[in-house]
Amino acid sequence: MVLHPVTEEVEECMVSELIDPGLHCWRRDIIMESFQINDANAICKIPLSRRRATDSVVWLHTKTGVYSVRSGYHTARKVMTTKVWAESSSSAAGQQIWKVLWSLKVPSKLKVFGWRASHEILPTTVSLAKRKILDDDRCHCCKRFAETTIHAVWDCGVAQDIWAGSITPLQKWSTSYHNFRSLFESLMERLSKAELEFFLVQAWLIWNQRNAVIHSGQLMEPGWLNRRAEEFLAEYRKAQVVLTPSNGLSGSYVWRAPPSEEFKMNFDAAVFSDQHCSGFGAIIRNSQGEVMAAMSMGGATC
Ligand SMILES: [Zn+2]
Repeated sequence: MVLHPVTEEVEECMVSELIDPGLHCWRRDIIMESFQINDANAICKIPLSRRRATDSVVWLHTKTGVYSVRSGYHTARKVMTTKVWAESSSSAAGQQIWKVLWSLKVPSKLKVFGWRASHEILPTTVSLAKRKILDDDRCHCCKRFAETTIHAVWDCGVAQDIWAGSITPLQKWSTSYHNFRSLFESLMERLSKAELEFFLVQAWLIWNQRNAVIHSGQLMEPGWLNRRAEEFLAEYRKAQVVLTPSNGLSGSYVWRAPPSEEFKMNFDAAVFSDQHCSGFGAIIRNSQGEVMAAMSMGGATC
Protein backbone atom coordinates (compact mmCIF):
# COMPACT_ATOMS: atom_id res chain seq x y z
CA MET A 1 0.00 0.00 0.00
CA VAL A 2 1.29 3.46 -0.89
CA LEU A 3 1.45 5.45 2.35
CA HIS A 4 2.59 8.83 1.09
CA PRO A 5 1.03 11.46 -1.18
CA VAL A 6 1.62 11.02 -4.90
CA THR A 7 1.39 13.46 -7.79
CA GLU A 8 -1.85 13.94 -9.76
CA GLU A 9 -0.26 12.20 -12.75
CA VAL A 10 0.43 9.12 -10.63
CA GLU A 11 -3.13 9.10 -9.28
CA GLU A 12 -4.32 8.75 -12.88
CA CYS A 13 -1.65 6.19 -13.73
CA MET A 14 -2.42 2.47 -14.28
CA VAL A 15 -0.14 -0.17 -12.72
CA SER A 16 0.56 -1.51 -16.22
CA GLU A 17 2.21 1.83 -17.09
CA LEU A 18 4.78 1.14 -14.36
CA ILE A 19 5.75 -2.18 -15.96
CA ASP A 20 8.03 -2.51 -18.98
CA PRO A 21 6.00 -4.72 -21.35
CA GLY A 22 9.06 -5.90 -23.28
CA LEU A 23 11.36 -6.74 -20.38
CA HIS A 24 8.45 -7.61 -18.06
CA CYS A 25 9.98 -5.81 -15.11
CA TRP A 26 9.15 -2.68 -13.06
CA ARG A 27 10.09 0.65 -14.70
CA ARG A 28 12.31 1.63 -11.79
CA ASP A 29 13.17 5.11 -13.10
CA ILE A 30 9.51 6.18 -13.28
CA ILE A 31 8.65 4.58 -9.93
CA MET A 32 11.58 6.30 -8.16
CA GLU A 33 10.52 9.61 -9.68
CA SER A 34 6.84 9.28 -8.80
CA PHE A 35 6.71 7.75 -5.33
CA GLN A 36 8.23 8.40 -1.93
CA ILE A 37 11.35 6.27 -1.52
CA ASN A 38 9.91 3.71 0.90
CA ASP A 39 6.86 3.22 -1.29
CA ALA A 40 9.03 3.03 -4.43
CA ASN A 41 11.29 0.35 -2.94
CA ALA A 42 8.27 -1.62 -1.76
CA ILE A 43 6.73 -1.49 -5.25
CA CYS A 44 9.95 -2.62 -6.94
CA LYS A 45 10.16 -5.61 -4.58
CA ILE A 46 6.74 -6.93 -5.64
CA PRO A 47 7.38 -9.98 -7.84
CA LEU A 48 5.69 -9.80 -11.24
CA SER A 49 3.66 -12.78 -12.40
CA ARG A 50 5.02 -14.63 -15.43
CA ARG A 51 1.57 -15.93 -16.31
CA ARG A 52 0.35 -12.46 -17.36
CA ALA A 53 -2.84 -13.01 -15.37
CA THR A 54 -5.75 -10.57 -15.66
CA ASP A 55 -5.75 -7.71 -13.12
CA SER A 56 -8.20 -7.82 -10.23
CA VAL A 57 -8.88 -5.63 -7.20
CA VAL A 58 -7.55 -7.07 -3.93
CA TRP A 59 -7.71 -5.54 -0.42
CA LEU A 60 -4.44 -6.40 1.32
CA HIS A 61 -5.71 -6.19 4.87
CA THR A 62 -8.04 -9.17 5.00
CA LYS A 63 -7.16 -12.81 4.37
CA THR A 64 -9.82 -13.11 1.68
CA GLY A 65 -8.68 -10.01 -0.18
CA VAL A 66 -12.19 -8.55 0.13
CA TYR A 67 -12.61 -5.12 1.75
CA SER A 68 -14.57 -4.81 4.98
CA VAL A 69 -15.44 -1.65 6.92
CA ARG A 70 -13.82 -3.14 10.04
CA SER A 71 -10.45 -3.73 8.32
CA GLY A 72 -10.68 -0.31 6.65
CA TYR A 73 -11.17 1.36 10.04
CA HIS A 74 -8.21 -0.45 11.61
CA THR A 75 -5.95 0.31 8.64
CA ALA A 76 -6.91 3.98 8.66
CA ARG A 77 -6.14 4.25 12.40
CA LYS A 78 -2.76 2.59 11.85
CA VAL A 79 -1.86 5.03 9.06
CA MET A 80 -2.93 8.04 11.13
CA THR A 81 -0.67 7.04 14.01
CA THR A 82 2.35 6.19 11.84
CA LYS A 83 5.42 8.19 12.90
CA VAL A 84 5.92 10.04 9.62
CA TRP A 85 2.44 11.57 9.73
CA ALA A 86 2.77 12.40 13.41
CA GLU A 87 6.02 14.23 12.73
CA SER A 88 4.68 16.21 9.82
CA SER A 89 1.32 17.25 11.15
CA SER A 90 1.21 17.10 14.94
CA SER A 91 4.34 18.65 16.38
CA ALA A 92 3.86 22.30 17.31
CA ALA A 93 7.03 23.41 15.52
CA GLY A 94 6.07 21.66 12.30
CA GLN A 95 2.46 22.77 12.12
CA GLN A 96 2.91 26.19 10.57
CA ILE A 97 4.78 25.13 7.46
CA TRP A 98 2.19 22.50 6.52
CA LYS A 99 -0.66 24.86 7.27
CA VAL A 100 0.86 27.44 4.95
CA LEU A 101 1.85 24.92 2.28
CA TRP A 102 -1.59 23.30 2.03
CA SER A 103 -3.32 26.70 2.01
CA LEU A 104 -1.47 27.94 -1.08
CA LYS A 105 -3.65 28.38 -4.15
CA VAL A 106 -1.60 26.23 -6.52
CA PRO A 107 -2.37 22.81 -8.07
CA SER A 108 -2.12 20.02 -5.51
CA LYS A 109 0.76 18.38 -7.39
CA LEU A 110 2.86 21.46 -6.53
CA LYS A 111 1.93 21.22 -2.86
CA VAL A 112 2.95 17.56 -2.90
CA PHE A 113 6.22 18.61 -4.53
CA GLY A 114 6.78 21.13 -1.69
CA TRP A 115 5.91 18.48 0.88
CA ARG A 116 8.34 15.97 -0.67
CA ALA A 117 11.08 18.58 -1.01
CA SER A 118 10.65 19.60 2.65
CA HIS A 119 10.95 15.96 3.70
CA GLU A 120 14.05 15.45 1.51
CA ILE A 121 12.35 12.61 -0.36
CA LEU A 122 12.77 13.83 -3.93
CA PRO A 123 14.95 11.46 -5.98
CA THR A 124 18.04 13.69 -6.07
CA THR A 125 21.36 12.16 -7.10
CA VAL A 126 22.53 12.32 -3.44
CA SER A 127 19.46 10.36 -2.38
CA LEU A 128 19.88 7.83 -5.21
CA ALA A 129 23.61 7.45 -4.55
CA LYS A 130 22.94 6.79 -0.86
CA ARG A 131 20.74 3.92 -1.88
CA LYS A 132 23.40 2.60 -4.32
CA ILE A 133 21.16 3.27 -7.34
CA LEU A 134 23.70 5.77 -8.72
CA ASP A 135 27.49 5.80 -8.27
CA ASP A 136 27.92 9.54 -8.77
CA ASP A 137 26.02 12.03 -6.59
CA ARG A 138 27.04 15.10 -8.59
CA CYS A 139 24.42 17.47 -9.99
CA HIS A 140 23.46 16.75 -13.64
CA CYS A 141 23.15 20.46 -14.43
CA CYS A 142 26.39 22.00 -13.09
CA LYS A 143 28.33 18.71 -12.73
CA ARG A 144 30.25 20.28 -9.84
CA PHE A 145 28.42 19.76 -6.55
CA ALA A 146 26.52 16.99 -4.84
CA GLU A 147 22.86 17.33 -5.72
CA THR A 148 20.75 17.70 -2.59
CA THR A 149 17.23 19.14 -2.85
CA ILE A 150 18.36 22.61 -1.83
CA HIS A 151 21.16 22.45 -4.41
CA ALA A 152 18.83 21.33 -7.21
CA VAL A 153 16.19 24.04 -6.74
CA TRP A 154 18.16 26.91 -5.15
CA ASP A 155 21.97 26.70 -4.87
CA CYS A 156 22.88 25.29 -8.30
CA GLY A 157 24.21 27.86 -10.77
CA VAL A 158 21.49 26.86 -13.24
CA ALA A 159 18.80 27.49 -10.61
CA GLN A 160 20.41 30.77 -9.52
CA ASP A 161 20.35 32.04 -13.13
CA ILE A 162 16.60 31.49 -13.09
CA TRP A 163 16.04 33.08 -9.67
CA ALA A 164 18.12 36.09 -10.77
CA GLY A 165 15.45 36.92 -13.36
CA SER A 166 12.57 36.15 -11.03
CA ILE A 167 10.35 38.48 -8.98
CA THR A 168 12.34 41.07 -7.03
CA PRO A 169 12.12 39.60 -3.50
CA LEU A 170 13.60 36.33 -4.73
CA GLN A 171 16.56 37.89 -6.53
CA LYS A 172 18.42 39.23 -3.53
CA TRP A 173 18.51 36.35 -1.15
CA SER A 174 21.48 34.51 0.24
CA THR A 175 21.99 30.95 -0.87
CA SER A 176 23.02 29.66 2.55
CA TYR A 177 20.16 27.42 3.50
CA HIS A 178 20.74 24.04 5.04
CA ASN A 179 17.81 22.41 3.30
CA PHE A 180 14.62 23.14 1.37
CA ARG A 181 12.51 23.29 4.50
CA SER A 182 14.60 26.03 6.12
CA LEU A 183 14.46 27.99 2.84
CA PHE A 184 10.69 27.63 2.67
CA GLU A 185 10.23 28.64 6.32
CA SER A 186 12.43 31.67 5.75
CA LEU A 187 10.39 32.63 2.68
CA MET A 188 7.15 32.23 4.64
CA GLU A 189 8.24 35.08 6.89
CA ARG A 190 9.37 37.40 4.11
CA LEU A 191 7.03 36.85 1.18
CA SER A 192 3.36 37.54 0.64
CA LYS A 193 1.17 34.53 -0.03
CA ALA A 194 1.06 35.30 -3.77
CA GLU A 195 4.88 35.56 -3.86
CA LEU A 196 5.19 32.28 -1.97
CA GLU A 197 2.90 30.65 -4.54
CA PHE A 198 5.16 32.02 -7.27
CA PHE A 199 8.21 30.62 -5.48
CA LEU A 200 6.68 27.15 -5.32
CA VAL A 201 5.74 27.21 -9.01
CA GLN A 202 9.23 28.38 -9.93
CA ALA A 203 10.93 25.76 -7.72
CA TRP A 204 8.72 23.06 -9.28
CA LEU A 205 9.59 24.25 -12.80
CA ILE A 206 13.30 24.21 -11.93
CA TRP A 207 12.97 20.66 -10.60
CA ASN A 208 11.20 19.62 -13.81
CA GLN A 209 13.86 21.39 -15.83
CA ARG A 210 16.50 19.38 -14.01
CA ASN A 211 14.59 16.21 -14.93
CA ALA A 212 14.38 17.34 -18.55
CA VAL A 213 18.15 17.82 -18.61
CA ILE A 214 18.65 14.27 -17.32
CA HIS A 215 16.28 12.70 -19.84
CA SER A 216 16.75 14.77 -22.98
CA GLY A 217 19.67 17.07 -22.28
CA GLN A 218 17.68 20.22 -23.13
CA LEU A 219 18.16 23.24 -20.92
CA MET A 220 15.53 25.96 -21.33
CA GLU A 221 16.76 29.53 -21.06
CA PRO A 222 16.09 31.25 -17.68
CA GLY A 223 13.84 33.95 -19.18
CA TRP A 224 11.50 31.33 -20.64
CA LEU A 225 11.21 29.58 -17.27
CA ASN A 226 10.39 32.85 -15.51
CA ARG A 227 7.71 33.70 -18.06
CA ARG A 228 6.35 30.17 -17.83
CA ALA A 229 6.00 30.47 -14.04
CA GLU A 230 3.98 33.67 -14.42
CA GLU A 231 1.79 32.15 -17.14
CA PHE A 232 1.28 28.96 -15.14
CA LEU A 233 0.02 30.85 -12.09
CA ALA A 234 -2.14 33.20 -14.17
CA GLU A 235 -3.75 30.26 -16.00
CA TYR A 236 -4.40 28.44 -12.74
CA ARG A 237 -5.93 31.46 -11.03
CA LYS A 238 -8.14 32.18 -14.03
CA ALA A 239 -9.37 28.58 -14.01
CA GLN A 240 -10.37 28.90 -10.35
CA VAL A 241 -12.91 31.66 -11.01
CA VAL A 242 -16.32 30.14 -10.45
CA LEU A 243 -18.94 31.56 -12.73
CA THR A 244 -22.29 31.88 -11.01
CA PRO A 245 -25.26 33.06 -13.08
CA SER A 246 -27.04 35.97 -11.43
CA ASN A 247 -30.44 34.74 -12.52
CA GLY A 248 -30.89 31.08 -13.31
CA LEU A 249 -33.92 29.01 -14.02
CA SER A 250 -35.20 27.22 -10.98
CA GLY A 251 -38.19 25.10 -10.30
CA SER A 252 -39.33 21.76 -11.50
CA TYR A 253 -38.87 21.91 -15.28
CA VAL A 254 -38.41 18.38 -16.63
CA TRP A 255 -36.93 17.88 -20.07
CA ARG A 256 -38.96 15.64 -22.38
CA ALA A 257 -37.61 13.86 -25.43
CA PRO A 258 -39.07 14.80 -28.84
CA PRO A 259 -41.21 12.31 -30.82
CA SER A 260 -39.48 9.62 -32.83
CA GLU A 261 -37.47 10.88 -35.85
CA GLU A 262 -37.58 14.46 -34.54
CA PHE A 263 -34.91 16.50 -32.79
CA LYS A 264 -35.23 19.03 -30.01
CA MET A 265 -32.97 22.01 -29.48
CA ASN A 266 -32.72 23.70 -26.09
CA PHE A 267 -30.85 26.93 -25.62
CA ASP A 268 -30.16 29.33 -22.81
CA ALA A 269 -28.14 32.40 -21.95
CA ALA A 270 -26.72 33.57 -18.62
CA VAL A 271 -25.36 36.84 -17.26
CA PHE A 272 -22.40 36.67 -14.86
CA SER A 273 -22.71 40.08 -13.24
CA ASP A 274 -19.64 39.57 -10.98
CA GLN A 275 -17.46 38.93 -14.02
CA HIS A 276 -19.22 41.51 -16.25
CA CYS A 277 -19.74 38.92 -18.93
CA SER A 278 -22.38 36.65 -20.39
CA GLY A 279 -22.59 33.35 -22.19
CA PHE A 280 -25.02 31.21 -24.12
CA GLY A 281 -25.27 27.63 -25.25
CA ALA A 282 -27.46 25.21 -27.14
CA ILE A 283 -27.90 21.45 -27.25
CA ILE A 284 -29.71 19.24 -29.79
CA ARG A 285 -30.97 15.83 -28.71
CA ASN A 286 -32.87 13.02 -30.46
CA SER A 287 -35.92 11.08 -29.33
CA GLN A 288 -33.69 8.83 -27.21
CA GLY A 289 -32.31 11.83 -25.35
CA GLU A 290 -28.91 11.33 -26.99
CA VAL A 291 -26.86 14.46 -27.68
CA MET A 292 -26.51 15.13 -31.40
CA ALA A 293 -24.73 18.46 -31.14
CA ALA A 294 -23.88 21.04 -28.50
CA MET A 295 -22.21 24.43 -28.39
CA SER A 296 -21.41 27.18 -25.89
CA MET A 297 -19.96 30.65 -26.38
CA GLY A 298 -19.04 33.72 -24.44
CA GLY A 299 -21.49 36.56 -25.02
CA ALA A 300 -21.24 40.32 -24.81
CA THR A 301 -19.55 41.99 -21.84
CA CYS A 302 -21.88 43.92 -19.57
ZN1 LIG B 1 24.23 21.96 -9.79
